[in-house]
Amino acid sequence: MSTSREAKAERIRHLLETEGDAVGQNTRGFNTGRYESVADLEDYEGLKDEARAIKEDAIDRLPELIDDLTEAVEANGGTVYLASDAADANRYVREVCESKDADRVVKSKSMTSEELEVNDELQSAGMDVVETDLGEWVLQLADEAPSHIVAPAIHKSREGIAELFRETFDPEDPPETAEELTMFARERLGELIADADVGMTGANFLTADTGTMALVTSEGNARKSALVPDTHVAVAGVEKVIPSVEDLQPFVELIGRSGTGQDITSYVSLLTPPVNSPTVDFGDDTPLADAGSDDREFHLVLVDNGRMTMREDDQLKETLYCIRCSACANSCGNFQSVGGHAFGGETYSGGIATGWEAGIEGEAVAAEFNDLCTGCSRCVDACPVKIDIPWINTVVRDRINRGESGEFDWLVEGLTPDAEPGGVDLQKRFFGNFATLAKLGSATAPLSNRLADLGPVRSLLDRTLGIDERRDLPEFQRETLVDWFRARGGSHVPRHEADREALLYPDTYTNHIDTSRGKAAVRTLEALGVHVTVPSVPASGRAPLSQGMVATAEERAHEVFSALAEPLDEGRDVVVVEPSALAMFHREYEQFLAPASFERLRDNSYEVLEYVFGLLSNGAEVDQLAGPSTDRTSAVADGGASTDRLAYHAHCQQRTLGLAEHTVAVLEAVGYDVRTSETECCGMAGSFGYKSEYYDLSMDVGEPLREQFGDEDGRDRRVVASGTSCLEQLDALLSRDATHPVELLVPDG
Ligand code: SF4
Repeated sequence: MSTSREAKAERIRHLLETEGDAVGQNTRGFNTGRYESVADLEDYEGLKDEARAIKEDAIDRLPELIDDLTEAVEANGGTVYLASDAADANRYVREVCESKDADRVVKSKSMTSEELEVNDELQSAGMDVVETDLGEWVLQLADEAPSHIVAPAIHKSREGIAELFRETFDPEDPPETAEELTMFARERLGELIADADVGMTGANFLTADTGTMALVTSEGNARKSALVPDTHVAVAGVEKVIPSVEDLQPFVELIGRSGTGQDITSYVSLLTPPVNSPTVDFGDDTPLADAGSDDREFHLVLVDNGRMTMREDDQLKETLYCIRCSACANSCGNFQSVGGHAFGGETYSGGIATGWEAGIEGEAVAAEFNDLCTGCSRCVDACPVKIDIPWINTVVRDRINRGESGEFDWLVEGLTPDAEPGGVDLQKRFFGNFATLAKLGSATAPLSNRLADLGPVRSLLDRTLGIDERRDLPEFQRETLVDWFRARGGSHVPRHEADREALLYPDTYTNHIDTSRGKAAVRTLEALGVHVTVPSVPASGRAPLSQGMVATAEERAHEVFSALAEPLDEGRDVVVVEPSALAMFHREYEQFLAPASFERLRDNSYEVLEYVFGLLSNGAEVDQLAGPSTDRTSAVADGGASTDRLAYHAHCQQRTLGLAEHTVAVLEAVGYDVRTSETECCGMAGSFGYKSEYYDLSMDVGEPLREQFGDEDGRDRRVVASGTSCLEQLDALLSRDATHPVELLVPDG
């Protein structure tokens, strides 16, 4: 392994060991809470659409809304400062604090202030800056960086925090339990807030019509920081502006549910400073609802820091819709394992961090962690404003590729079958051109397989391309699926006798490597009366896209559509075995094809078990399919695993497309007892798990799957999975053969 890959692998291993357990437990808890909480919503999708529309409109009209907001805040008696960058914002905040002779500034949690590094500016000017969010305070004491945008100390255990408090404060009665720790912090922070001269907050939303700021928090510290000191400075990115107070409704409904699984966060404070922000005086019993004091001063610092440029960037603009709920981090397999200290940049972490860091800090910062997004797309459903987070990651990866100068450029320039310029990392180029390699591998099999397995070759592949030696390499078949189909004389169901006609799409894996599942798909469809064709069609472009080779993926999309346009015109359905290829047709091709072409392919292409489900729902006889009693392959597979009990893992893309249920329904219809995996991503993610720098992470992500399918109820079940990557990962995790579900359905004959 190269030195830089080894260093990356080592850092990941270290974080897996030191922070992985705490991060995993907390993020998985948030993610489960999200599912439970959004299930209570009557119209979750409608609410997301509403939130998305408000953000789209707000970002489109941003300059106008900033003017409106400024007018409203000034009419209320406050001041607005539009800061061009971090230095400008920090200077303004420091000058405000200095004008108040501030000794102490108390701060509530604010990602924008983290981005500015305003603490450093104020501390350099001699001020005491105190973080009042429990997690941020813990990190300030520990001198550590946040690892999560909502729960910054998510990587720390309760025991670790208790130890930190003991070391820092040497208390007489050291707090141990979560409640004791919270009370200990609350008392200390309460005293510090009471004596503060300036309070700083962020703002989750700012309404342009009234100058109102919404603070959504789990602790009361933000409200205290805003209201106890006479001077309140709020720091917020310009993207936080929305048109009106009424527009807050969908966001308040969604933000807590999406992030931490709370139906509503503990505190939702609507402040319209300096008026209508009640003054808190610890020595006075006056109710909080009373009007604010005339002495109050309010400064709103609106921060550009690259955002206006992002707004002009068609690809990064969507990042500005982000409400920083953290759902994309919590739902991400890699993040759940390694957390934001690896999967994050200077300030932001998780899936959307690539957009923020590329826009604010530059692509070089995003490049440090961008590869940790595997494009599995689980975050797509989780995002309350429907941001296409994997696409942002892909686009930035493409830009990073184009900015790089690879050491082997001279070797590959002009010789590779892709559409990329020089500069693309050799490892990425190798995996991005896997379809070409597969053609070569099949043409020269079995020699290609024997050669690739030789020790010195594996070692060379590791050193030059970073292909981990612990992974089994795919075995190329000499006879491809297309060749087999041609040799058998085409479909065994004549057109004139067929109920439907389908084209089975020969994705790279099904055509060159796992041909048995392709053959099983043909036979299964024929058993249900379908006339099948298996023509040669180019690769879907998933492989180059996952490496950020967007131009190549776009080229493939056009080639695929050209090959499929005529069959589609003839009324044939397109049936796809590999879910990641189908996801290209259903999602990513929208970026590449004309709308009518994209819709035609999307609306007429189906995952194979989804298609079988559709046939059965429309009158096809389930008796035509094999079940547990007739499945000929079961008896020899899995070393004696039960023939009627299955452990099924759906592919991540299949879940995002909402197609996992069809497979379960079909398997149950033919008589299997199916247990489905609770793990959303197996960790393999195409080429990701092959890369030596990510091998350990990939295996760690798959660990919950290994535990579930290895438990008492899982260990004697036959393992079934829909995705190529999942099948390979399950083989590695469980040392049990895994099968594609369609292979269980092939009837005798
Ligand atoms: S991208 Fe979406 S899911 Fe991720 S933090 Fe932003 S709003 Fe939440």
